[in-house]
Amino acid sequence: MKTIMVIGAGQMGGGIAQIAAQAGYSIILNDIKDEFVLKGLGVIQKNLSRSVEKGKLAAEEKEAILGRITQSTSLQDASAADLVIEAAIENIAIKAQIFSQLDIICPKNTIFSTNTSSLPITEIATFTKRPDRVIGMHFFNPVPAMELVEVIRGLATSDEVYKTIEELSVKIGKTPVEVNDAPGFVVNRVLIPMINEAVCTLYEGIATAESIDNCMKLGTKQPMGPLELADLIGLDTVLSIMEVLHEGLGDKYRPCPLLRKYVKAGWLGRKSGRGFHNYGA
Ligand code: NAD
Repeated sequence: MKTIMVIGAGQMGGGIAQIAAQAGYSIILNDIKDEFVLKGLGVIQKNLSRSVEKGKLAAEEKEAILGRITQSTSLQDASAADLVIEAAIENIAIKAQIFSQLDIICPKNTIFSTNTSSLPITEIATFTKRPDRVIGMHFFNPVPAMELVEVIRGLATSDEVYKTIEELSVKIGKTPVEVNDAPGFVVNRVLIPMINEAVCTLYEGIATAESIDNCMKLGTKQPMGPLELADLIGLDTVLSIMEVLHEGLGDKYRPCPLLRKYVKAGWLGRKSGRGFHNYGA
């Protein structure tokens, strides 16, 4: 495996492109518009520059890593990829469109993986004629810092593809853990309802956002409060995951109305400058 196409140059796609380029792979970084690809590249550049300043990375190495990333706004570029890692927005219709096109564009042996936080891998595999070569690679935010990747088999994923992705995860510096295809997988099944409960706590006026985050940091040693974490993940993503849990697992997982209201208002957290906390421009 030499060439990886990463689809979506947002916070996750950018991070995945960075670590895979650092591990020596050629990356095609794709998004729907040049400006989105450039924004993703800008974040990668900034991250690498910080590592150079800290003496963790040689300046020439930074240039070499950036030199391995090619910009793309056409899915046709996937014809050169051995593996596609899809990290576009959490929307099944968009993922259906992407994977059905990729299935036509890519050679038969190209592996398709998705970084979906919650959508069924088995369903995503049905958008292609190669369900045995479709797999979930669920990274965590921020990708360069977080060690885990949940590797999720769809019903038809082959052992060969699982093994390849497990090995690749290690090569790009992550610890893979095999997880079954079920709503929210493991981490989000446990984490997102806790965030939703924190939003309900705010909604019911029990404490301010700052106090809720402080209580959870000081009382449970979490490095970041649940509302800060929601702002980091993106409230649209948190809501999508809650909706999948609600649909798949029942009423106990109903999204808090305040979460819906914030998403409707475009208050999506850090990426929009405002969520449960303010981040300025
Ligand atoms: P984001 O909004 O930061 O980035 C999504 C990017 O996808 C945007 O740049 C957008 O322009 C692009 N995009 C949309 N439609 C596209 C298309 N048809 N083709 C190519 N690019 C397209 O979102 P994100 O937080 O990076 O999340 C991306 C995926 O990763 C989602 O499936 C999400 O559930 C999953 N995920 C997110 C987190 C998290 O903490 N944010 C963690 C794990 C997994």
